[in-house]
Formats: sequence, structure tokens, C-alpha cells
Amino acid sequence: MKIKREQMYIDGQWVAAAAGATRQIINPANQQIIAEVAEGDRDDARAAIGAARKAFDHGDWPDLPGAERARFVFRLADLIEQNREELAELESLDTGKTVEESRWDMDDIAGIFRYYAGLADKDAGDVIDSPNPNASSRVVREPIGVCGQISPWNYPLLQAAWKLAPALTAGCTVVIKPSEITPLTTLKITELCIEADFPAGVVNTVLGPGASVGAELSENDQVDLISFTGGIETGKKIMRAASGNVKKIALELGGKNPHIIFADADLETALDQVLNGVFFHAGQICSAGTRLMLEASIHDSFVAALKERMANITIGDAFADTTQMGPLISAEHRSKIENYVQIGLDEGALLELGGQRPDGAELQNGFFYQPTLFTGCRSAMRIVQEEAFGPIITVEKFTREDEVIAAANSTIYGLAAGFWTEDGGRIHRLSRALRFGTVWVNDFNFYFTQAPWGGYKQSGFGRELGRMGLEEYTEVKHIYQNYQPEALNWFGC
Ligand code: NAD
Repeated sequence: MKIKREQMYIDGQWVAAAAGATRQIINPANQQIIAEVAEGDRDDARAAIGAARKAFDHGDWPDLPGAERARFVFRLADLIEQNREELAELESLDTGKTVEESRWDMDDIAGIFRYYAGLADKDAGDVIDSPNPNASSRVVREPIGVCGQISPWNYPLLQAAWKLAPALTAGCTVVIKPSEITPLTTLKITELCIEADFPAGVVNTVLGPGASVGAELSENDQVDLISFTGGIETGKKIMRAASGNVKKIALELGGKNPHIIFADADLETALDQVLNGVFFHAGQICSAGTRLMLEASIHDSFVAALKERMANITIGDAFADTTQMGPLISAEHRSKIENYVQIGLDEGALLELGGQRPDGAELQNGFFYQPTLFTGCRSAMRIVQEEAFGPIITVEKFTREDEVIAAANSTIYGLAAGFWTEDGGRIHRLSRALRFGTVWVNDFNFYFTQAPWGGYKQSGFGRELGRMGLEEYTEVKHIYQNYQPEALNWFGC
């Protein structure tokens, strides 16, 4: 099968890339070419920004009552649900994640659009009691304007939905750019936006490399906000690029997320969640709990049980019923993982399991990698500190609560952390002491639409999801009206 999508969507029209370029999209499970898509550049990004600017400055969209805009967003949610299977298949072909995971994603995504559509008419503004008895003060939220939205390859449509749903609900116009290697579901949702009848210029989809299309969205002074999910180094470039017109910026960057197990925990459930926390999507999840911290008294038995379960993980194609873990996204990314395994070995970590490509003739054409376990790790090691973004667990041993808190916080990242214990006092202390945007207690990697998501420290700033995710796309205006103006008679009297 080869899908042809050699166009992008700009100002209500499907158009080829200005320079006529295309790119081949590869299934990471077997390297087969699954699609040929348009490959845009800066000119295409500028055209899309111009269309979004026109739709915001001169179109009806930003001024529609919230309930009217919500109709479009609700329609889109229905269409996502109706096209769930096709979307899930495209996502799995493009990323290699199991089709069951992709189906969850699609249900989640429909729910995200519904959630924001439901908020569209809920903000009645605020009235402030003014210190002047003859005046009134109102605070209203208005759409921020033209939004550039740049998404990564690991959750192509989910990450796009976190951005599109609140931006559209708020009354913004958008230019969305998916990762150049995983554009298929973003193209499909663009088709669904057309079916949902969004006005021309409200949703624009451009494809192409980050260094040109993404950079243009970040730099262009006709863009009011840039929302980015991706790696920390790209995030820094975007911050610099966005400074030209002091754009608003929302950054969801990487993570290196500690998962702490105390001896008094429900160890069987914790073990299961440790596995879920790392091996969904082969560890290519920003909040993956790849940094396991075990209380010394349970270390050996927990590692033994973990090894046993890890050895049973079935690796394979996204569409096989038996598959529990798919491939890595690309040859380049697998080299990065292999390099990190070598770094771990060089640093003296003990390789307990994995550390290589799997056997099996059917796996040789894909970018597969074995679930990998290192013990004997210390906080300062690079294998512990840096985000590999793959199926690698590092294990550190601890004896005291204050020691594990200090170690868990000793990272430039601050996206998510989790811990397991039955001790109520400890739950209270750790929940506050861990400096991460999300802290899970007796659970891991559970997120939902109503709760804000984002990072402390270099994991980024701004929040997606929840009401805060909608507020990101608004400006706050204070309107003060004086009903009985009086002269001050200060100057030149
Ligand atoms: P990446 O930074 O390489 O690319 C992300 C996007 O940025 C892509 O669309 C890419 O084309 C674009 N881009 C690249 N260079 C650019 C530039 N100079 N200017 C503008 N855009 C540019 O990241 P990735 O490899 O696609 O994704 C993996 C990273 O994403 C990991 O670090 C992961 O932790 C992070 N992530 C974070 C979250 C979160 O919620 N915090 C969620 C998912 C992924």
C-alpha cells in the first residue's frame, strides 16, 4: 500500500509544496514505504501563516460566540470517533506502536476535542470591584491570535490534539506542523476539519523539516504564539527564534522521570506499573519512568522479578495480536539508543538484560531493540541523567527517604515522577518534595484531559490540558470604564 498525500492545506485549499518537493514515509517495523507526502519549506510556512493571519484579523472565527465555535469542535470530535479505525491504523503504520495503543489514543483524542468544546461557553469573565465607585472593571479573555504548533513523532496526533483543540476553542487560527517523519494522522485530521466545515484559514497544515518550516513558524513576526512539543535542544532554538517579536511560547520538552519503590509498597502492582511505565511505545514517551529507584531491602528480589517479566515481552509488528512492544522510530534513533547502552557500559553500569537488537528473521528489517535493564547505576551517570527515549531501565538503590528525594530531584528535567508506598506521612512529604509537573502516588503514567500537563525546570513551561491548556491560548484584558470622569487639574493649570 502506498498513500499519496502530496499536498498541504493552506487557506482552505490543498496545495503542493511551492518547490514541488515530496518525502517518502517509512513504516519503522519493516522499512517499507507507506506514503509519499508533500515536503514544504519556508515559503509554504509563510503562505500558511499569511492565511491564518487573514482569517484571524478579517474573518469571523475569533468573534464567534463560544457556543458557535464549539459546534465545529464537537463535529470534529464525532468525525474522529467515526474514523477511529483508519486513524489508529495510520498512526501505527507511521510510528510502529501497537494498533491497540493507537486505538486508545484515538478515543482519548476525541475526548480531548469534546472536553474543550464543552468549555467554549463556560468563561463568563470576571467583574472586579473598582476602587473608584463611579467605575466598573471587567476582565475578559480573548484569543491570542495566530498560533504556530509544532508536534513530535512519538504521539503525532495526540500531541497535535493537545494543541489544536484548545486553540480552536479559544478562537485562534493555527498553522500546524507535524514531525516530518510522522505526518499521516495530522493530514487525516485536516481532512476531518474540512468535513467539520471550519472556515478557510482557521486550520492550516504544513509539512516539512523543523529547520525550515518549524524555524519559520518560530521566527515569523506574524505568529503570536508558538506551541512546541519535542526535544530540549530544539526547544532552546525555538525560544531564541521566538524572541524576535516576543511571541508567547509554550514548551513541552523532554523528561527523565524517576519511579521510586519503597519496601512497604504493593510490590506486585508496582512491578506491573514499572513495566507499563517504560515499555509502552518502546519507551518513546516523554514521561516514561526509565529511572527506577529501589529501596535496598527489596532491590534484589524486585530486579529478579522485573528481569523475568522483561524477558517475556513480545516484540513485533504493530498489527500482530501478540505484539506487546513495537520498533523504535528510525535507524537514527536506534543508533542513539545503542550509543546510550555503550555509555552505560563505559560508566560501569551492570547490563542485566537486553542491550542489543532482537533475533528473529521477521524483525531484521525493522528498527527493533530489546528491553534493556541496567543495575548498579548512580545518580551522576549520563545513562541516568540523559533522556535516551527508548526501552532502557536504569536501577539505583537507596536506603533513606531524604537520600532518594535528593537523588530524584538531581536532574535538569522536571516532567513527571512516581512513587509507591503505603505510608501516609511519606506520601505527603514526597508529593511536596519532588520537583516535577506531575507526581503519581501508587500509580504511573496516568494522565487525563482535565488535569494540567507540563514540566518544571528544563522540561518546559506552560501547561497543556485542563482549563490551563485553554488559557494558554488567550490574552487577558482588563476593561475599566469610568462613568463620571473628573479632571485631575495636575498639569499646566
Ligand atoms: P524534536 O525536537 O527533534 O522535533 C519535534 C518537532 O520539532 C518536529 O516537528 C521537528 O520537525 C521540529 N523541529 C526540529 N527542529 C526545529 C527547529 N529548529 N525549529 C522549529 N521546529 C523544529 O523532537 P522529537 O524527536 O520529534 O520528539 C522527541 C522529544 O519530544 C523527546 O525529547 C520527548 O521527551 C519530547 N516530548 C515531550 C512531550 C511532553 O509532553 N513534554 C510529549 C512528547 C514528546
